[in-house]
Amino acid sequence: MKLDDPFALQVLMQAEEETQGWKMMIGGEWVDSRSGNRMASLNPAYDEEICTVPAANVEDVALAVEAGKAAFPAWSLLHVEERARYCRQFAQLVRARARELGMLDAIDSGNPWLPMIDDAKKGASLHDFFAGLGMELKGQTIPTPGGGLDYTRPQPFGVVGRIIPFNHPISFAAGKIAPALVAGNTVVLKPADQTPLSALWMGKLVQECFPPGVVNIVSGEGPLCGAALASHKDVRRLAFTGSVETGRAITRAAGITSLSLELGGKNPLIIYPDVDIDKAAAAAVAGMNFSVSQGQSCGSNSRVFVHSKIRAAFTEAVLARVANIGIGLPQLESTQMGPVISRRHYDRVMAYIASGTEEGARLLHGGGHAPGGVLRDGYFIDITIFDNVRHGMRIEREEIFGPVMGILSWDDEAAMLREVNDSDYGLCANIWTNDIATALRMADAVEAGYVWINGHGGKRFRGAPFGGFKDSGIGSEHSIEELIGYTRTKNVNIAY
Ligand code: NAD
Repeated sequence: MKLDDPFALQVLMQAEEETQGWKMMIGGEWVDSRSGNRMASLNPAYDEEICTVPAANVEDVALAVEAGKAAFPAWSLLHVEERARYCRQFAQLVRARARELGMLDAIDSGNPWLPMIDDAKKGASLHDFFAGLGMELKGQTIPTPGGGLDYTRPQPFGVVGRIIPFNHPISFAAGKIAPALVAGNTVVLKPADQTPLSALWMGKLVQECFPPGVVNIVSGEGPLCGAALASHKDVRRLAFTGSVETGRAITRAAGITSLSLELGGKNPLIIYPDVDIDKAAAAAVAGMNFSVSQGQSCGSNSRVFVHSKIRAAFTEAVLARVANIGIGLPQLESTQMGPVISRRHYDRVMAYIASGTEEGARLLHGGGHAPGGVLRDGYFIDITIFDNVRHGMRIEREEIFGPVMGILSWDDEAAMLREVNDSDYGLCANIWTNDIATALRMADAVEAGYVWINGHGGKRFRGAPFGGFKDSGIGSEHSIEELIGYTRTKNVNIAY
């Protein structure tokens, strides 16, 4: 193995041992796939296999759903504060292992280690957050004619299917199960094909904390394992985070199932000429999430609409900032940006970069493999900045999900707004101006589910609902809406 970092190797050994040779957590037990099929997990920094994990099929998913069903009656009958107590304890266990879990993500996903420690803690903090909201699972009383009493009760669905993508493995694996659990559901979690390791290891913490079957974790390929979960008749609530394309497949497979979708984005950052240029440039760079996930973030501001008056100075400030981002091996503390997730994704991002040049955008930075001998074998792409991007180019229209930022310039606000909104996506938008009326007017006008004014996409706030408009999804996360979304409403009418 090319990976020679002592702590990384120790983490791998410990995780392999504690998962009994990389098994799945079903009904509180470590189990292999029934078929014995396994699939490889790769280290994107070296293009080499780390280990193999179970490749679950329909039968394995059915077992996990069965385990969730068996655990559901007792779990859902616990008082919500008791479920909250379990979740808070789980948060503690994840936090205590944050360095190790973060390292596993660095090895498996290529994201740099230090931000992945934070990611583990962010996942844990969602358990504390939703635990605190638990008592808000209240119903209503409804006035009815002729006396009597009419009231509603939010009730859990049963087994929730939770399918997550590769870009924040432990943060999503740990955090995205929290609202479903607090609301009284049990869960079957499926991590991304490329990054199953931290979720499988989390199985150890699940085993330590929750009653058997409350949280089940299956690894496998999307079109087999994920599709089996999405189409399982006893999964009545499905939550998916991933691409629009898979979101569509899941919608078809799920049938009559309550569904929430957190999908892709092609997020605009709009800059007016009255801003502090250096601060706006800092926000543009931070909002690309180069230093957390190589720009592989749904919230990245990959379309920057900057006023023509300040374009030159803004571009210069962006270039000065990206020059300071250290690309390196993800397991090292000094690394700020690592490789993209896979060879396939590397080729896809490179094809977008080629299309940008072909369609007439001007390449200002990057555009190829990141320099440096130790980065030779991995999927490292240099930070790529395009100027002279025009509306309608592929790099302006399609989600690249990599370290590629496109700068467009504008003079006419109405024309700029038309271009901003002429997108199938509608996840986030970011507006930079010091004019409060302009900021609020534009916040109303942009078609996006989450808007920052003078902020950036790296900043999300607990309790603030995060979710997309248009093809970017259905539903909102990290908020009371999400917790309630894991319940269905029962109405009860009593005649006196
Ligand atoms: P993806 O859609 O390829 O895969 C996501 C998950 O779906 C994986 O677990 C995969 O195994 C599974 N899957 C694949 N095919 C399936 C099928 N037919 N049935 C059921 N499950 C299936 O996405 P990805 O490449 O892992 O992640 C990148 C995408 O996720 C980007 O579009 C990004 O914008 C989006 N994303 C959105 C948010 C958000 O909050 N809106 C957050 C992170 C990522």
